[in-house]
Amino acid sequence: MSGHLTTVAGVAVDTRHWIGGERVASAATFTDHSPIDGSVLGEIARGTAAEARAAVAAAKAAFPAWAATPRADRARLLHAIADGVERRLEDLAVVETADNGALLRSHRRGVMPRVAHNFRFFADWLLTLDHEDFDTRGHSNHVSWDPAGPCVLITPWNAPLMLATWKIAPALAAGNTVVLKPAEWTPMTASLLADIAAEAGLPAGVFNVVQGLGSEIGDALTSHPDVRRISFTGSVPTAKHIAASAAPNLTPLSLELGGKSPLLVFADADLDLAVELAVEQYDNAGQVCLAATRLLVEESVAEEFTRRFTEKAARLQQGDPRELPTDIGPNIHPRQLEKIDGFVQRAIASGARAVIGGERRAGQFYAPTLLTGVAQDSEIVQEEVFGPVLTLQTFRDEAEAVRLANDTRFGLAATLATGSRERAERVTEQLVAGTVWVNCFFVRDLQAPFGGSRHSGVGREGGTWSFDFYCDVKNTVTAPKGWKDHG
Ligand code: NAD
Repeated sequence: MSGHLTTVAGVAVDTRHWIGGERVASAATFTDHSPIDGSVLGEIARGTAAEARAAVAAAKAAFPAWAATPRADRARLLHAIADGVERRLEDLAVVETADNGALLRSHRRGVMPRVAHNFRFFADWLLTLDHEDFDTRGHSNHVSWDPAGPCVLITPWNAPLMLATWKIAPALAAGNTVVLKPAEWTPMTASLLADIAAEAGLPAGVFNVVQGLGSEIGDALTSHPDVRRISFTGSVPTAKHIAASAAPNLTPLSLELGGKSPLLVFADADLDLAVELAVEQYDNAGQVCLAATRLLVEESVAEEFTRRFTEKAARLQQGDPRELPTDIGPNIHPRQLEKIDGFVQRAIASGARAVIGGERRAGQFYAPTLLTGVAQDSEIVQEEVFGPVLTLQTFRDEAEAVRLANDTRFGLAATLATGSRERAERVTEQLVAGTVWVNCFFVRDLQAPFGGSRHSGVGREGGTWSFDFYCDVKNTVTAPKGWKDHG
């Protein structure tokens, strides 16, 4: 560490904010630790309301010129950012792994290429976004997508750059300017992205990053009257707080929140495939909003399913996320680990049985856990744990499966394992979920709508849905009469 630069996995990262095209320090800092070994990664600028206001002011000042920039030029700049992400892919991958503890191999092969794709996809989609024209009794209707203004984007730590760029790319493509507030447990790659955007030639103030604790800096961003959109990914309690803070200005919100998604395994399913899907739910140490953490298994195959599941789960290797054989890395923070263990111990105290796991492991790890003997109305079935903890319940028939699946306050996703197309159609129709996967999991296309029902969120992201949110859609109705020129 020297001055405002820190070195993370051999990569220099600036620890200050990025406001109006300049690095800005704060009087105070907070410490960022690696979940891999607890080592200090850096002292990060601890933003206050003053820096939040400065970032919004920079975004507001840059907005008119960026909004007026021709679409093709905006698209070209987004592609240039994607080029920069690809050039620095290895840096981004190693820094993200050091900061959030997810597997290096998935950052290299999957996540960071997707980050570049996020920019390319929305740049290209912008160019295909049609101005719709139609006729009403001789009058023409012209629907246009106007940029909305400065956007505040607030993101979590479980997939930091991936989730941030899902928002940044469409917001910028639509002609808006952005203030990003990354999670305080994972501030590093957002700072690298600011460097990349500047190198790509993005004008000053179009993209800003403010670092800091959400509880300290959040309100100054979300209650600011010049902010025209707030897009948030994170927990339900924070979302409620943000909604209240944004309410006086009626600032439109997009909320991507938590889940308690089910995996329904029917007796007619390919059981090996079902087991594979179930074990996949431990990915990223269970810190995945979409994770199907409630296994609902048809009674007649439950015993065999559990046998094969425990056999496969026992082969998972937990350890250093930079090592190739590792399947599961550490959990993000000692506080998160405590929260996970609290859920598990309370469940066990009220009668649940840990078929596997149920305990902490040395370092910042939690043993992959499967709990049975859990009641539908219990905390462990109803609340999001956000760790490698699954529950297993059985059902007798389709109606009971659907009833259990829908019986939480969430509605983010659901996964089905079944050999019957008819059943898949029938059950899917009855499930409350933003995404349903049939005999697969986590297959995700940026064209598709993504989001949650009930307490899992408000609105959808992806393709046209993102532009719907980040634009002020305008309809212009023009009469065929009254013209004096020769147009
Ligand atoms: P969190 O709500 O604690 O924090 C998310 C972000 O909000 C952070 O940047 C934090 O600094 C900020 N924040 C905190 N208090 C704030 C305030 N008062 N005002 C403004 N911002 C504030 O969530 P988390 O623990 O970082 O993330 C985990 C949660 O995110 C889980 O519930 C998970 O399911 C959810 N999540 C949802 C999706 C999705 O797409 N639906 C994706 C990933 C994670």
